[in-house]
Amino acid sequence: MLVPLFDTRGPLAPLEPEIRAAIDRVLESGRYILGPEVASFEREFAEYCGVAHAVGVANGTDALTIALRAMGVGPGDEVIVPSFSFYASAEAIPPTGAVPVFCDIDPETFCITAETVRAAISERTKAVVAVHLFGNMVDVESIAALGVPVLEDAAQAAGSRLDGRRAGSLGTAATFSFFPSKNLGCFGDGGMITTDDTSVADAARTLRFHGSRDKVHYEQVGYNSRLDELQAAILRVQLPHLDSWADGRRAGGAYYAASALAESAQLPTPTPGCEAAWHLYVVQSEDPDALHERLEQAGIDSRAYYRTPIHRQPAMAPWSAGVELPMTEAAAERHLALPISPLFALDAADAVAAAARG
Ligand SMILES: *Cc1c(COP(=O)(O)O)cnc(C)c1O
Repeated sequence: MLVPLFDTRGPLAPLEPEIRAAIDRVLESGRYILGPEVASFEREFAEYCGVAHAVGVANGTDALTIALRAMGVGPGDEVIVPSFSFYASAEAIPPTGAVPVFCDIDPETFCITAETVRAAISERTKAVVAVHLFGNMVDVESIAALGVPVLEDAAQAAGSRLDGRRAGSLGTAATFSFFPSKNLGCFGDGGMITTDDTSVADAARTLRFHGSRDKVHYEQVGYNSRLDELQAAILRVQLPHLDSWADGRRAGGAYYAASALAESAQLPTPTPGCEAAWHLYVVQSEDPDALHERLEQAGIDSRAYYRTPIHRQPAMAPWSAGVELPMTEAAAERHLALPISPLFALDAADAVAAAARG
């Protein structure tokens, strides 16, 4: 491919000597699980997000399950979640004992809104998973105003801001994934929970280590789910560059907006007040397969991520009977992700636009 969907390697190239030094530092320390690197990265990431606490976990999916349990979600509860997202946003709910209740999205921002959440609320609603999809952000305040605690799924939104506040600082708690292709990615799996609530942070810390505070008494059935020292050390090198990478993603979006792409597809719309660090640049088309074909012929990568929305996945059948989500269905049929990265250039945007026109 002349223009790949992602560029995980390019932004890291100038940091390679520093990353190798960090890896050596961990190797020589002899401490590989829950040592000083994780503790330091948790402090640095909390400060970056503008929250009091960050708790490192093994991946973004565990982060969701653990954060929900730390917020008090359990058997008998309902958790509202969009169906147009990565599968894990909903998959993380049943392990808490609660059930997922699917809600629709706004067709232009791809995000849930106070209106779509209101339609799914019941007396048993214990939390809402607000997915900041593709780097765009949910207006969390308007949903919290309905009186339900919000967990931000910020796996795709590291570096995005809404009204000047960072993704990860708006809900009761938030979760991140450091899967390699995410806006901030490590060299394996990793995840984080952020929160201002000391009791939620404390519960998450306990749950990630088998439900124990002292490795002697086990209060709950928890998880073995830690961010490891090596990944934390690698992420510490990258974090100071996240804002400039996010600026690069925003610039990429601006190049697309300035190109002729809008003649061939509907461009993504940021939520009002959102400075989106586009994780994926997702357009909509009446015929996304034909658009994909034209791009492929020009050597340009593109992909439909969520053609089958979560509520229509076989595993979700117990919780999706009678669920109707027209905006989700439309987005699932019409979306196509185009190349974007922190280094995405003006001429690449023009090349995509030209190929899209055919
Ligand atoms: C990637 C992702 C997750 C899961 O993160 P993992 O680290 O892969 O477990 C959850 N939610 C969303 C929206 C994601 O994009």
